[in-house]
Amino acid sequence: MDAKPKEAMLVPFIADAPTTTMQRLKGLTTGSLPTFIDASQNFASEEISEDNIIDQLVKHQKQVIVLGDDTWNGLFPRRFKRSFLFPSFNVMDLHTVDNGILQHLEEELQKNDWNVMISHFLGVDHCGHRYGPDHPEMTAKLSQMNDIIKNVADRIGTDTLLLVFGDHGMTKTGDHGGDSQGEITAALFAYSPGLNMMPANPNSIHPVQVSQVDIVPTLALALGVPIPYSNLVYGLATAVSAPVVSIVTALLVVLTMLAGDGLAPAVLVLVVTATSCFMVQAVCSWMTANDIETLLKPSWTALSVWFILSVHGFYVTGHQPTFSSLHWSAAFVGFTGDWGGSNFFPALLVGFNTFMAQILFGLSLPLIVLAPLAIGVAFPRLRGNRLESEETSRGEFLLVDRPEKAKEAVLFTAGSYILLHAAKCYKNNLSS
Ligand SMILES: [Zn+2]
Repeated sequence: MDAKPKEAMLVPFIADAPTTTMQRLKGLTTGSLPTFIDASQNFASEEISEDNIIDQLVKHQKQVIVLGDDTWNGLFPRRFKRSFLFPSFNVMDLHTVDNGILQHLEEELQKNDWNVMISHFLGVDHCGHRYGPDHPEMTAKLSQMNDIIKNVADRIGTDTLLLVFGDHGMTKTGDHGGDSQGEITAALFAYSPGLNMMPANPNSIHPVQVSQVDIVPTLALALGVPIPYSNLVYGLATAVSAPVVSIVTALLVVLTMLAGDGLAPAVLVLVVTATSCFMVQAVCSWMTANDIETLLKPSWTALSVWFILSVHGFYVTGHQPTFSSLHWSAAFVGFTGDWGGSNFFPALLVGFNTFMAQILFGLSLPLIVLAPLAIGVAFPRLRGNRLESEETSRGEFLLVDRPEKAKEAVLFTAGSYILLHAAKCYKNNLSS
């Protein structure tokens, strides 16, 4: 830092709890927040299933090598070009892992067939567990680490970035796992002889601290691979349409009960027809769209089909086109006596029964925009080669990313639906 202040940076590196190594490695590679459920799995290393920086690197033909803590192999089996890993479970052992790394570090630094080298030293952590932070053994361990960092820093060229960081801090007694200030605070040191790390604006200063989850997008951009997004985001790919589907399903159940024995199958057929329409619409959208913008526009054909289905729904659930043919009296059977003569509830039910198809199809309108995107995520083959990309796999989130497009699509869909129904009403008035 003193010798080359421009080429180096040293800042606090803040971890998210739980500050156990397994959870921290997940956070540092997926860029997402670990869950507490995972804390119990610390001793049963499990392969990471979320999208992560290692998978993105491997997918884009970057060679990754790893040295040190064997937790890496449990999390990322078969991903590394070379690995020199040593057992990490014995916290009383201060040197096996570190010395193992040192045996291979020199040789690996000389090779130039890798893009990313991960060296995970464990001695400092184990020394904390065994002796605590204020012990001569810790001083010795830290000065050993300092010599290694110096040596590596002297060896790297202008096209290499050296990052040195701890995945967690420790308490005054040398433990970790919780969320106290000492446990979540590690350090991040960055150095490259080819980079100027001074802020572009001379009046601003280096960041006061850096979040550990931010290392993933930073590395992805630096190495030219897409930023991984975790399962959390994949799961949300249906979150936008989930409330619509839930509300419509709940109302469908009510409608089926109101429709009664004879007409319930008709409701079922209507649902199957509508679902099939979504599938056909999704296939058509993905086959014809040439770019993402087109894909996000609701199709006029889909809207017309949706309108026709809503009208069709009115008839298949047993309704006649004239008011005089409605069975008004039937709706009020059973509501005398205890109901005190209030007609509110029966009127609500008869209204619901009568216009349910229009209401349901109206409520499910957002699905016209969302369904092709969600179905494209569920069936990646649909997307074909033309539009298959990291971006289209974001599904419904394509709209969340483009609030203007989303507003436009919603306005167009709702407006067209109302317009079609208004036109139908007008025609009805004329004919009567
Ligand atoms: Zn530890």
